[in-house]
Amino acid sequence: MNVQSDFDVIVIGGGLVGAACALALQGSGLRLALIESGAVPALPHDDSWDSRIYAISPGNAEFLSRLDVWTELDQQRIAPIEEMRIWGDDGISRLDFSAYEAGAATLGYIVESRLMQVGLWAKLQAVSDIALFSEVRCASLELQDTAATLTLADGRVLTAKLVIGADGANSWVRAQAGLGVTTNDYRQLGVVANFATEWPHGDIARQWFRGDGILAWLPLPGNRISMVWSTMAEHSKKLLEMTPDGLVQAVARAGHDVLGDMRLLTPAAAFPLRLQNAEVMVRPRLALVGDAAHLVHPLAGQGVNLGFHDAESLARVLCERGLQSDVGDYALLRRYERARQMDIKGMQGMTDSLHTLFNSKLPGIGPLRNWGMSFTNRQQWLKRHLMAHAMT
Ligand SMILES: Cc1cc2nc3c(=O)[nH]c(=O)nc-3n(C[C@H](O)[C@H](O)[C@H](O)COP(=O)(O)OP(=O)(O)OC[C@H]3O[C@@H](n4cnc5c(N)ncnc54)[C@H](O)[C@@H]3O)c2cc1C
Repeated sequence: MNVQSDFDVIVIGGGLVGAACALALQGSGLRLALIESGAVPALPHDDSWDSRIYAISPGNAEFLSRLDVWTELDQQRIAPIEEMRIWGDDGISRLDFSAYEAGAATLGYIVESRLMQVGLWAKLQAVSDIALFSEVRCASLELQDTAATLTLADGRVLTAKLVIGADGANSWVRAQAGLGVTTNDYRQLGVVANFATEWPHGDIARQWFRGDGILAWLPLPGNRISMVWSTMAEHSKKLLEMTPDGLVQAVARAGHDVLGDMRLLTPAAAFPLRLQNAEVMVRPRLALVGDAAHLVHPLAGQGVNLGFHDAESLARVLCERGLQSDVGDYALLRRYERARQMDIKGMQGMTDSLHTLFNSKLPGIGPLRNWGMSFTNRQQWLKRHLMAHAMT
């Protein structure tokens, strides 16, 4: 089989960021295709909770609303964050943020990954101007002067003026373009699991900077929480090997039993954590978005938020290109890369510094970092600045 199809833009990778990027370009008059190696996402038959959850900023909830996706999600499964409480590793120092202080309705929302995936794909299937390819394998990608040529494993050949790589941290697209990455392996894993709790969480996201990593309890609807424990590989292995009762005990104790008795709802899973940047985000005929372009420590819950910002920013540059008819033009794509640098570097710098600070065993650093936390808590202007950045 050797069928050829011509597009303006091919998005490779239909995860949260790639799917949002394709939808953000929908209605622009560009001929669009989305290629996903996995199956079309679907909800399970029971009403179980996905252990992969995301803190989505109010700004990105608005972005997804503009794509007609957010409002279609089952709002009963979304929890608002009214407050954030963060404790230092002396158990006393504390940093608090509240929606009230920020003058906002909420600091963000906790949403299951699967729920958003299904919502984005339902919208993709409802629009008529995006050609969807799921469960397909890419065989080769060539970036030429005038077009990019993508050959699928079944022999189909697709051409486009621009390829968008949205295929995640180990991006095949990035490798095909010969782009390297700089990586700093945190040698940590993010262990995730959901729990039912005895007492209500009060829509409060709680986080403890501990000697053995960073533990977050994020509110889910009802008396439920989702845990992300970013911890050294050895400790995460221990957590994963625990019996359900053992894990419940360890997690409840680490969180000072603030929500009473707990019960495990989903088995623990773990994800490796690293800081990573593609050497560039754009090349002639190529742009990278989301984890394909950058990875960030999850302690601030900002990875997919940065990816949604990429998707929105790239779509804006392409849609507002004026007289430039070639969407794969390098100068045009550089506008996108420049627009994204500050946000990405700022978030990576902030999370990496916090990670380093709380992992340091240097003498005297412990009291200093806890003092810094309490000091920040007293600086309303600084807190407002931090909140404004995280809420976009
Ligand atoms: C423990 C942990 C907790 C986190 N918590 C948060 C949080 O609270 N908030 C937040 O904002 N972020 C969080 N993140 C970050 C977030 O998970 C990622 O930033 C986000 O999932 C990246 O989405 P993506 O679409 O770029 O990539 P992916 O989710 O990796 O999607 C890539 C897609 O491309 C497809 N694909 C791959 N290769 C190919 C190919 N060759 N051809 C076609 N398709 C392909 C895959 O099937 C997949 O669908 C967390 C990360 C971790 C590890």
